[in-house]
Amino acid sequence: MAAGPAGHTPAGPLHASLQSVPESAYDVIVIGSGPGGYVTAIRAAQLGFKTAVVEKDRVGGRCLNYACIPAKAVLRTADVVAEIREAGDFGITVGEPNVDFAAVMERRNRVVQTLTGGVAGLLRKNKVDLIEGSGALAGEGRVTVGGASYEARFIVLATGSVGRAVPGTQFGGRVIGTEQAWALPQLPGSLAVIGSGASGSEIASAYVRLGAQVQLFEALDRVLPAEDADISRLAERGFKKQGIDVHTGTLVSDVVSGEASVTFRFGEQSGEADYVVIAAGRGPDVEGLGLEAAGVALDDRGLIAVDGAMRTSVPGIYAIGDLVAGPALAHKASDEGVIAVEDAAGLHTHPISYPDIPRATFCTPNVASFGLTEEQARAQGHDVVVGKVPYGAVGAGTVYGDRQGLVKLVGDRRFGELLGGHIIGAKATDLIQELVGTKLLEGGYPELAHTIHGHPTLSEAVMEAARALDGWLIHG
Ligand SMILES: Cc1cc2nc3c(=O)[nH]c(=O)nc-3n(C[C@H](O)[C@H](O)[C@H](O)COP(=O)(O)OP(=O)(O)OC[C@H]3O[C@@H](n4cnc5c(N)ncnc54)[C@H](O)[C@@H]3O)c2cc1C
Repeated sequence: MAAGPAGHTPAGPLHASLQSVPESAYDVIVIGSGPGGYVTAIRAAQLGFKTAVVEKDRVGGRCLNYACIPAKAVLRTADVVAEIREAGDFGITVGEPNVDFAAVMERRNRVVQTLTGGVAGLLRKNKVDLIEGSGALAGEGRVTVGGASYEARFIVLATGSVGRAVPGTQFGGRVIGTEQAWALPQLPGSLAVIGSGASGSEIASAYVRLGAQVQLFEALDRVLPAEDADISRLAERGFKKQGIDVHTGTLVSDVVSGEASVTFRFGEQSGEADYVVIAAGRGPDVEGLGLEAAGVALDDRGLIAVDGAMRTSVPGIYAIGDLVAGPALAHKASDEGVIAVEDAAGLHTHPISYPDIPRATFCTPNVASFGLTEEQARAQGHDVVVGKVPYGAVGAGTVYGDRQGLVKLVGDRRFGELLGGHIIGAKATDLIQELVGTKLLEGGYPELAHTIHGHPTLSEAVMEAARALDGWLIHG
């Protein structure tokens, strides 16, 4: 377990529940109720801590209300539209589908309400108090919310992040962020998306299939630039096939929002779209949190500095999720919260292996990965072995109509170690989990190659890729 700051004394879980505390005093106060905050609070309550969550906006945080979940709800509609268009391949004749965007957004809202209602219910079930308002640190073991003041033995900061404009641009009018892109009042005729990371690619891939004209701009030389280069290549091919106008190695400038459209320049050309979506950066939401006065140290990127148990520089204060380093992902935030309160409870925790957190992008083609890319593995000096198996090599790829998908595994030959997994194609975002689990349980590619997989499933392509690494690919 990583060492904590001097003076931090973990308490046993039961000590907390046995102490009698006044109404406004808690063992744990979590500020922010996103996937980081609410999971933290529930785990804290399970550990016997008297717990409260402070939320200034809506329970469930940005993830459930404005980001992950609305995005996936609209993407699901785009998937259905695409399947209807491809129905002819499966022997079904249908006309061109009509997208009723108001109904799409109604479903989006229902999905959000169902899930946020579920979170509120879970908090109640676990006897976690919800305090509405803006929380701030106010001296040792103290949190203020509006005019009220609360005591806490442990405070977990989980206030998430906000969108940032790229240099030379600013939000306003028809220049919007990713959260707004998933809450548009009408189906836009055209969109220009700046940034082809996970969020930008999801927005482009959803709206083009719903019927908008979409331009996708990326400053680097390939889409999904954090992914393995082979995956980026296939993703770009898939995006273009859907009709996305992809511009890599291209900077957008002179963005001007007008009454009915936005004008901009890219390279030597000028462009115009109903909206420009900036999907290229986020920063921690720490405004008014009182970090400086409380003495909470930041790292060199302006994020809150923490150790492997999520402890900040101030004893008793933890920080998790988008506020701290590592990939900005909901499941990462949740896991960090569990670590924080388990540490507060005196349980044995261990630091997260950040590269091995699964990364999922819900565009079409679906993309998921964990661990090192081939390039990173070579740069780190591993004895690299690579296995690539197209979905078409296994029965399910043909049955389900996706022969173009690809599983690429990267291993180290010396120990049979699984260094990274990269999947593009149907259900990639589900398939990745097997690789993460295998690695976590200290399996390597020889073990995966010998694991029996159901037939005919796409997961057989994962098994075959492991066999390819192990030198005995059967199908392919
Ligand atoms: C468009 C989009 C799509 C995404 N899709 C995915 C995805 O599919 N999968 C995935 O894993 N990740 C996704 N992410 C990233 C994911 O949303 C974040 O990593 C995740 O929300 C971080 O969780 P969190 O708990 O740290 O913060 P948040 O979800 O941001 O929640 C923080 C909460 O704290 C509240 N708060 C802030 N300050 C205060 C204060 N002072 N007092 C009280 N409350 C406060 C906020 O109102 C908010 O409700 C997406 C992000 C975006 C923008």
